Amino acid sequence: MDALELEKTYCAPNYAPLPVVLTRGKGVWLWDAQGNKYLDMMSAYSAVSHGHGHPRILGALTRQAEKLAVASRAYHSDQLGPFLERLCRVTGLDAACPMNTGAEAVETAIKAARRWGYKLKQIPDGRAQIIVAAGNFHGRTTTIVGFSDEAAYRDGFGPFTPGFVTVPFGDAAAVEKAITADTCAILVEPIQGEAGIRVPPAGWLKQLREICDRHDVLLILDEVQSGLGRTGKWFAWQHEGIQPDGACLGKALGGGILPVSAFVARREVIDLLTPGSHGSTFGGNPLAAAVGLEALQVLEDERLIERSAEQGEFLLQALRKVRSPLIREVRGRGLWIGVEFDPLHVWARKVCERLSHRGILTKETHDTTVRFAPPLVIARAELEWAVKQLELVVRELERELLPSLQLQTA
Ligand SMILES: *Cc1c(COP(=O)(O)O)cnc(C)c1O
Repeated sequence: MDALELEKTYCAPNYAPLPVVLTRGKGVWLWDAQGNKYLDMMSAYSAVSHGHGHPRILGALTRQAEKLAVASRAYHSDQLGPFLERLCRVTGLDAACPMNTGAEAVETAIKAARRWGYKLKQIPDGRAQIIVAAGNFHGRTTTIVGFSDEAAYRDGFGPFTPGFVTVPFGDAAAVEKAITADTCAILVEPIQGEAGIRVPPAGWLKQLREICDRHDVLLILDEVQSGLGRTGKWFAWQHEGIQPDGACLGKALGGGILPVSAFVARREVIDLLTPGSHGSTFGGNPLAAAVGLEALQVLEDERLIERSAEQGEFLLQALRKVRSPLIREVRGRGLWIGVEFDPLHVWARKVCERLSHRGILTKETHDTTVRFAPPLVIARAELEWAVKQLELVVRELERELLPSLQLQTA
């Protein structure tokens, strides 16, 4: 059997990958087993924001791997402090709990928020509530999928953890109405990634901040995908000049090499995670800390945040110029752009398949959105080439799917 057949036979069928077998990656490019070259337009959901095999991050990885990789938090290491100090400096928050995956950072946030509710806000035991947004994506644990409204994420996995209240995304008034004396936190993505790169109305985060202050509720932002430059700022909350009480980070924090995540928060919140209350065997290991620190340093040294803003604006305008009855909307921030196709004509999956034939790898979110979220190191000429390929795919699909249009323009 070839690699694709082996994977189909021996891997749980919990993904439906495009039929491409990748073997190598460098910068913004990927190669398959046949030697075909592809431009990476999804960056593993922001995990590869630095590009594949960034030399400096690879250097930090190999140097640290040779010295000490995993030791456990039963001891201190010389790597964890410097990493978390930097993380606190860039977030403007006080301290962090290091974990591995994004879902674990969110689980950590949920635990810390509930403890804060009981110990500091004096919510009666067992009653703490967290307000979340419809269309959310925060990971795949049983607790987290319990407050997802995506049927596929939930089907057959109940019973679910109580204590979550869902309100419409981007609706501050609905949040305020949902708050009770038992509300400990609001947990939202500043821009919803998996829901289709949904940008909320301007001012929403600011309103959430005010509501949280008014009602003594924590504002916790899940920036696992939006954070670390993806939207053209270090964090999406900076577009509205606010500061959350806690933030979940992951994906790009691992520099495209390792899973590294963290829950970063104000002192009063993080200090509730006392010895024995929470932990992770691999969380904060020296290898992850060394890679995480270098990942943060590279973002700064290579001005990748500023590049995301500049290149993202160019990409947004260029994609908007691809006019077609197949396309309903182009939206996004920084190098995080969703092109919404009209499901009356074509599914996003088909567009992704056609793009892959033209050397671009990306992934649909839901059925209608094609995402353009390349590594932040991407060059202008590469973006121009990608837009050209999308335009060619769109024209090709128009010819096949809209023959009547063909007649009109002929
Ligand atoms: C991907 C993602 C997660 C989960 O991260 P994993 O590393 O897959 O557990 C959580 N929140 C958001 C916003 C994400 O995009």
